Amino acid sequence: MMKDEFICQGVLHSGAVEGIRLFNEKKFFEAHEEFESAWRAEKDDIRNLYQGILQVAVCYLHIKRGNYNGAVKVYGRSMKWLKDFPDVCRGVRVGKLRSDAEAVMKEVQKLGAERIHEFDESLFKPVVWNEKREWVCDRCGSTMQEKNCKVTCPNCGNRFDCSDLNIYFD
Ligand SMILES: [Zn+2]
Repeated sequence: MMKDEFICQGVLHSGAVEGIRLFNEKKFFEAHEEFESAWRAEKDDIRNLYQGILQVAVCYLHIKRGNYNGAVKVYGRSMKWLKDFPDVCRGVRVGKLRSDAEAVMKEVQKLGAERIHEFDESLFKPVVWNEKREWVCDRCGSTMQEKNCKVTCPNCGNRFDCSDLNIYFD
């Protein structure tokens, strides 16, 4: 889908940057608030990414509070938002987040509602985000190289300027 790949080559909203920082400190309620502000500020489909990470934060919050049914419900919602994004979007390792959350939920389901309070919080892995952003070529899928804001695909020559959301085709 052209549109999603296209949308992944912009800059992460500052609220989302702050949200990831808080998420990685396991401050899931505060992270949820930052992602909500990013989601509200964004009109484009990238807001679905923010909504998805927000729901993962809420899911983890439910787990911390021992709310089994809440965690299961919100996990399902989060994956609905995140499933269509590529593994790396705006430098965020979305694929890793999906598999981390899946591992968390496997453990939660193993424990069940009775023993959810025994959940090992070290399973809450951070959202990995490359501040320099990792660009993936929308034409061939190769990792692109960024130099002085000029992003070039070493494989097919596709290029664009990182300050611009538009991709320039040869
Ligand atoms: Zn390419």
